[in-house]
This record gives sequence, C-alpha cells and structure tokens, in this order.
Amino acid sequence: MSKISKTWHGIPREEIPWYPTVNEEKCIGCGLCFVTCGRDVYEIAGKKAKVVNPYNCLVGCTTCETVCPVGAISFPPKEMIQKIEKEHAVLRYVQKEKEKKGAKLALSNARAKAEKIVSESFHRADFTVTGHILENGIPEKLVNLTSQCNCDIVNLQLEVPSLKVCYEKKAPSVAKFTLVSQEFKDISECKEKIDQLLNNNNIVIVEQKKSS
Ligand code: SF4
Ligand code: SF4
Repeated sequence: MSKISKTWHGIPREEIPWYPTVNEEKCIGCGLCFVTCGRDVYEIAGKKAKVVNPYNCLVGCTTCETVCPVGAISFPPKEMIQKIEKEHAVLRYVQKEKEKKGAKLALSNARAKAEKIVSESFHRADFTVTGHILENGIPEKLVNLTSQCNCDIVNLQLEVPSLKVCYEKKAPSVAKFTLVSQEFKDISECKEKIDQLLNNNNIVIVEQKKSS
C-alpha cells in the first residue's frame, strides 16, 4: 500500500469526517469490503467488518458501500464534503495542484517522447559485403562519405584471395566493418547513404545488423 496522505487538498484529514460506518446487525462478515479496500480501513473480527483506520478512507470514495451485498455500509451525505470544500476554499489549493500535476505530466510526456526517439534510433551497424571492393575504391569512398556524416568505420576486416588475383583475375573480396557515430547519434541517414554507395558500385550486402 502506498503512503496515505495526512491531508486532503491542504485540509488535515482528521478534520473531515468521511469514513464508512458498518451496521453490525446487517453485516454477514463476507469480507468483501476488507479485501476490496486498498487502504486498510477494515479488519474482520468476530465475523464482522470493523472500521479500524477511518481516516485512511479516501475522501469521496464509496466503493465498499457499493459492493457490500447486504447494504451494511453507509457514508455521510456528499453535501458534507461540498460544505468543507467551500469553507476551506479548496478550489484555490486545487488550482495549484492542477498546475503542478500538469507540469509533471508534460515532463513525463516529453521524457517518454525522448525515450521513444532513442529506442527507435540506432548507433552502430555491422556490415558484411562482397564484390570488387578494392578495385572500386570502396575504402576511400567510405572514408569520404562517413566524414561528411560525422561517422566512422571501425573494425574493418578485408579478406582477399590475393591482391594480384583481385586486380588481375577480378576475384571478389569480402569486407566486414562497423559503422558508428562519433557523437553517439542516430546513424540511419549515413547507413542509407552507404547502402546506396555499395549498390551503385555493385557491392552485395551479405549481412547487416543494427544496434543501439
Ligand atoms: S461487505 Fe458488507 S457484509 Fe461483507 S463484511 Fe463488509 S460490511 Fe459486512
Ligand atoms: S470508501 Fe473506498 S477507501 Fe474508503 S473504506 Fe471504502 S473502499 Fe476503502
């Protein structure tokens, strides 16, 4: 159970006589009020419901009265609460609470939005590609492209049968590399440009994995 406030919109809770009363003659001790109330207002003793923490009751709540199968629970008239609201100018206090809650909600929405952007962005992509990588000058083209995006290629591994075979017999080579952002930013745009560059140079992307 979360901590129960000792005030209600600035009014000491014990100055508001809002709590249930159980008619013992009607009560059949079913326990529905006891298990329904999340504020430990009730106990069951001697097969009867007893109100043990009256000021834990949430001002205005009548849930236990509604669910009691035999109508054994009653509350003061709601006009009593309205009278107290007027006497204590509760609405002025509520105005401040409303602003505070609105600001909190706006902050939480902004945070959720930022978290969504981060979760949908990614900061590294692993590539495995094959084709005429050296003959087409792919390493140099990648350096030029990634410099413009403030990204970098790391962990470059190049597998070639032999340089001669690559250049003379046009054998394809395989390259593995990781695209990363130097500023831990989303690299989607840079990755798309790399896809395009590879495609334009007939380099096949064998595998591509993104991660944040
Ligand atoms: S729900 Fe009603 S009948 Fe059941 S224990 Fe509570 S007061 Fe008694
Ligand atoms: S009215 Fe609501 S808070 Fe109060 S005792 Fe009943 S269930 Fe609990």
